[in-house]
Formats: sequence, structure tokens, C-alpha cells
Amino acid sequence: MKIICIGRNYAKHIEELANERPENPVVFLKPDSSILPRKNPFFIPPFSNDVHYEVEVLVKINKVGKHIATRFAHKYYDEIGLGIDFTARDIQQKCKEKGLPWEKAKAFDGSAVIGDFYDKSNFDLENLSFKLFKNDKVVQDGNTKAMLWKVDELISYVSQYFTLKKGDIIFTGTPAGVGKVSENDILIGEINNCKAFEIKVK
Ligand code: ZN
Repeated sequence: MKIICIGRNYAKHIEELANERPENPVVFLKPDSSILPRKNPFFIPPFSNDVHYEVEVLVKINKVGKHIATRFAHKYYDEIGLGIDFTARDIQQKCKEKGLPWEKAKAFDGSAVIGDFYDKSNFDLENLSFKLFKNDKVVQDGNTKAMLWKVDELISYVSQYFTLKKGDIIFTGTPAGVGKVSENDILIGEINNCKAFEIKVK
């Protein structure tokens, strides 16, 4: 399986990192080795002093597809979830300055938190609220209605480049409020007030 991630999909997050608003979705991949095993703590990697959480709505692909039209994209997923795209912001900043790829900052071991998945029919995908709590305080409070590109548009876009396969997961971008994690932080993600994951940082 592969993980396809979308960057810069919420305007306020683009502003907080002083990025340019893209003409097309920003896309990058994480390998399957980036998945943090369930119930494991997240260990801050030794190569970064500034690892950030980014809470994101996830979509699990249910069948093979390529060149999927937006109007048919809803047939390619039944489940949505919530996760974290951990990002070594200091390394990403260096990569950005030099125009280099982001994998060392975004695709390292444990950088993909994948929480519980839910039947999408239980939710209004156009108006889905999700939150990240750090040590019981809300640090990210998002809603999919603020997405620049909706889930179906993202599926259509990425499937022009990558054949989607059953089990692939799309990280749909993070809202504002990203920040640094520290040892002993507890991160809890909620989607419409359901707890989708809890991660301890070590
Ligand atoms: Zn992200």
C-alpha cells in the first residue's frame, strides 16, 4: 500500500507557514514503513529538533482506479479516518530553501499515524469537524468545508499520476494550528467528537 499526502489544502495553514497558495494540490508520498504501529508511542527522531503534528482527515481507497473523474470518485472509498502527518519542520525548511524533496522531513519511520476508520455514510464529508488535542488542550480545530480541494477532487487529481489501489490511504491536508511536539505529550484526535487515536510522544 502507499500513502498519498496533500499539502497546503487549508488557506489558514498556508498563511501560518507563509507558503504560496498553490495552483494545484501539493502532493507527496509516505512509504508503508512510515506507519506508526497501533498502540506504539511516537519517538521523536534524533535528526530533528522541531517535529510538528499535523492532524488530517484520511480516506481509504477501496478498489483500483486510474484517471478517476471527480463525479465518480465517491465510488473509490467507503471509509474515512483521522491521522497525523508528523513533519520534521526544521528539515523540511532546509529542503524547501534548496528546492529538494521532502521525504526526509515527512516520510521517516513513525511519521504516519493512522487512527480508526469509520463508514463514510455516517458523516457529511463536506462539513466534517475534527480536532487535535495536545495534553487536553485543543491545538487544531478543523472542518472539511475549509478545504481548497474536496476529497473527490483530490482523488481525481492524484489518480492522474498514481494508480490508486485497495488499501491506499490519502492524507487530505492539515488545517491551521500545527506545532511542535515534546516528550511526554499526549495527542488525541477526534472526528465529530469520536476519538480516532491517542498517541504518546517519547
Ligand atoms: Zn500534512
